[in-house]
Amino acid sequence: MITQINGLHHITSLARDARENNAFFTNVLGLRRVKKTVNFDAPDVYHLYYGDEAGTPGTVMTYFPFPHAARGRQGVGEVGRTSFSIPTGTSQAWLDRLATFDVKGVSQDTRFGDIRVLFDGPDGDLFALVESDDDRTPWTGNGVSADIGVRGFHSADMRLRSGDRTAELLQFMGYEKEDTQDNVTRYIVPGGNPANVIDIEVNPLANEARPGAGSVHHIAFAVENRARQLEVREALLDTGYQVTPVIDRDYFHAIYFSTPGGVLFEVATNEPGFDRDEDTAHLGQALKLPSQHEHLRARLESYLQPLEG
Ligand code: ZN
Repeated sequence: MITQINGLHHITSLARDARENNAFFTNVLGLRRVKKTVNFDAPDVYHLYYGDEAGTPGTVMTYFPFPHAARGRQGVGEVGRTSFSIPTGTSQAWLDRLATFDVKGVSQDTRFGDIRVLFDGPDGDLFALVESDDDRTPWTGNGVSADIGVRGFHSADMRLRSGDRTAELLQFMGYEKEDTQDNVTRYIVPGGNPANVIDIEVNPLANEARPGAGSVHHIAFAVENRARQLEVREALLDTGYQVTPVIDRDYFHAIYFSTPGGVLFEVATNEPGFDRDEDTAHLGQALKLPSQHEHLRARLESYLQPLEG
């Protein structure tokens, strides 16, 4: 078993419309856009990052908005629902707020004793706000005050046809089985960051998911630094996983590997962070390009859809 994983780092999904995506995460959910860059592997597509003030690992939802992407089909083999934490007692305020913005798919339930507000993102993405005691400092603005603001990720749900091998992998990654409710089993990294929960939901009869707008592309787990990341990479290789070399994503270093249930995992470093190339006061405002794509700046600035205005 390895002990270097802290919990979630970021979750990356696909979207159709960049402007709609930006408006939803900043105006409706009140997150801060902490980086406006491009997909390093397809630079004519944005890569947008939303989180807390600094884009602290465990708070960061990211998107690749492909302008003509077809909507994905939900099923097994993917991250089904991404959950953010909100303060205890604020569900009603969020229900009211989501209604004001005409957000779709809104309902309420309880999972493992926590009250959740369920809702859909602009492309049918599945989200929840989970009431929990979470002392992280929220980003505020756009009518979201500190007493209700989103604290960061609470958890992610993986929907699988069979959960056994993925559960074994999570346990290898330092997660411990916490509880079971119906077909959902909860895993937690003891001593991890505040986004240290993964739920595995098993649906043996469900169809395979088909990726598209509204689907999670991959889920990233946090490690402190590059030395810890190399230890994790070696341990995964020794266990038989096919892991990519370390890739420099400018704001973190990344390794990727496919998992038995079909979900793409990444392990990302907490360093250097999003203030690497712009100061904290102005994060997310300017279009930031990695050095290998800087020569495309003029073309990309005229091609990419403005996010505001
Ligand atoms: Zn990633």
